[in-house]
Amino acid sequence: MSPSADCLFCKIVEGEVPADVVAQDEHAVAFRDISPQAPTHVLVIPRVHQPDVGSLAEAEPEAAVGLLRLARRVADEAGGSYRLVFNTGADAHQTVFHCHGHVLAGRSLGWPPG
Ligand code: C5P
Repeated sequence: MSPSADCLFCKIVEGEVPADVVAQDEHAVAFRDISPQAPTHVLVIPRVHQPDVGSLAEAEPEAAVGLLRLARRVADEAGGSYRLVFNTGADAHQTVFHCHGHVLAGRSLGWPPG
């Protein structure tokens, strides 16, 4: 999908809104979350606009795999265990409707999540 005019994360991909980018490639961009919930809290987003990870996998499977590869790279750089979370839908606390994976690492992570 082409960029969505009112999408914050499309604007980050386009460089129109600043972000602390830690890694990127042809498929995805990784940047630090502005409200970190762990010592490493990085969002990994596809360059294309899709509202959630399932839609991305259906519509742009190569971009979905690219996003997972970049998330792994970010997590490997953080070292140790990590969690990759895709909140999907408002009741699962999705607040930005451009697909994003949260890479959380650097502390012990409890289970089950809230
Ligand atoms: O999964 P959810 O949709 O709740 O995650 C959105 C995330 O985007 C939040 O963790 C929020 O802190 C982050 N965010 C950001 N930079 C912005 C706006 C939101 O890192 N400018």
